[in-house]
Amino acid sequence: MPNMSMKKTPMPEQDPNVRNKNFDEVALGYTEEMALEEAQRCLQCKNHPCVSGCPVGVHIPEFIGLIAKGDFAGAYREIKLTNSLPAVCGRVCPQESQCEHNCVRGIKGEPVGIGRLERFAADWYMKNGKQEETRAESNGHKVTVVGAGPAGLTCAGDLAGLGYAVTIFEALHTAGGVLMYGIPQFRLPKEIVQKEVDALKAKGVAIDTDMVIGRVFSIDELFDMGFEAIFVGSGAGLPSFMNIPGESLVGTYSANEFLTRVNLMKAYRDEYDTPILRPKNVAVVGGGNVAMDAARTAKRLGAENVYIVYRRAEEQMPARKEEIHHAKEEGIIFNLLRNPVAIHGDESGRVKSIECVKMQLGEPDASGRRRPVAIDGSHFEIPVDCVIMAIGNSPNPLLHSTTKGLDTNSRGCIIVNEKTMETTRKGVYAAGDAVSGAATVILAMGGGKEAARSIDEYIRSK
Ligand code: FAD
Ligand code: SF4
Ligand code: SF4
Repeated sequence: MPNMSMKKTPMPEQDPNVRNKNFDEVALGYTEEMALEEAQRCLQCKNHPCVSGCPVGVHIPEFIGLIAKGDFAGAYREIKLTNSLPAVCGRVCPQESQCEHNCVRGIKGEPVGIGRLERFAADWYMKNGKQEETRAESNGHKVTVVGAGPAGLTCAGDLAGLGYAVTIFEALHTAGGVLMYGIPQFRLPKEIVQKEVDALKAKGVAIDTDMVIGRVFSIDELFDMGFEAIFVGSGAGLPSFMNIPGESLVGTYSANEFLTRVNLMKAYRDEYDTPILRPKNVAVVGGGNVAMDAARTAKRLGAENVYIVYRRAEEQMPARKEEIHHAKEEGIIFNLLRNPVAIHGDESGRVKSIECVKMQLGEPDASGRRRPVAIDGSHFEIPVDCVIMAIGNSPNPLLHSTTKGLDTNSRGCIIVNEKTMETTRKGVYAAGDAVSGAATVILAMGGGKEAARSIDEYIRSK
């Protein structure tokens, strides 16, 4: 008999007033008993609508059925058939708009906790399972991947599995992309990402760090080095600013810089001497996951008041619901329907306040969301000593500006054939944020998978 509880089996979490002072993981994961209980909520629907909500088509009823039988290793293997990073996706996928959105149990009550179960299976296997990565027999062909984020890692893993000799060139000193430098430790422990990267190396993928392609080697030079196809997964790491007065004052960061200092350069740990401001009052501008991560990180660094300043209402916030909920629990103050117009500084050039205007929602805009409109005469100031801009990122122009024939659209995103992920330059494929603009981990992985399939076809047809 299925478990007909309307609610998901709760997942234990650190107390909000404890966790907002440390960088340990917030959500503690299911025990075996909890996983068995939640797995029994799945109805094993024949038409499995949940699967069509997953960009990589994880075999959801099958893996949940294996958990329900207590075969946790089998569940992990079932997930791995289509998803190379389950411990990551179980933690950071926006499940509420993907797999869980389509779950029939969500019609009356809460959907099955698919993400929580996926995380459980992956964590269980990391602790109890056997490393099974084997090297496929070489097919004699060489391929290269630019960027070691989820798109690049997935593409590299799939190609290595088909016998290709794959080398990833990564600009930073560590592989993982945003999983390492952007998403904070308290949401995605770096040890987990590192284990996934190590598993890829065990499959034979070579990762060459501190290599900025477009500077150290051009795309043409990579072809000259004997690589037969190139995959570009260089992400969208160029932060946007509002172009309002005061954005160059001391104490203004892009969320990318702030989070990179804390995550990749470990500014939160005493044994590292990475410089970082430890502000008392912080305004984070934006309403996405990046804004939530920056605000919760600032709180953990000791800020007393952290404000989210967002120009629309909560229903329009692009952040995952769980992140908004966690941020509120941790004491982040939401200033919604507010838009910054200037940042003011003191005589030494340091941020002293952010000036905002109140907004109201008007007619829907091109995105279908109601357009925020400023209310005349509603200006006000919030005293802050730090402003973090988290209003979006776009692809870095370096690669396409140094590569002939690699076309981009007006947003600087690489143009690809959506079926094959081939760019306008023959033999060069691309996916992830470099193509879509800032999106999600699982979409980047789905694109990387698609590209690996096309690269294999392309090389075999030559
Ligand atoms: P990236 O992860 O950006 O990786 C690109 C890699 O390419 C980087 O390592 C970069 O250093 C490297 N690179 C760039 N240029 C070059 C070059 N010229 N030569 C060599 N290497 C290069 N998504 C979710 O699904 N859930 C979340 O909760 C979530 N939270 C997020 C929080 C933050 C703070 C941020 C910034 C993003 C978040 N995202 C989230 C979005 C998600 O992380 C991205 O969509 C995803 O990482 C994109 O993957 P990618 O492989 O395309 O690019
Ligand atoms: Fe859901 Fe993401 Fe897992 Fe797919 S990969 S089943 S979208 S949690
Ligand atoms: Fe299970 Fe929900 Fe998928 Fe049905 S839709 S198989 S209940 S996870």
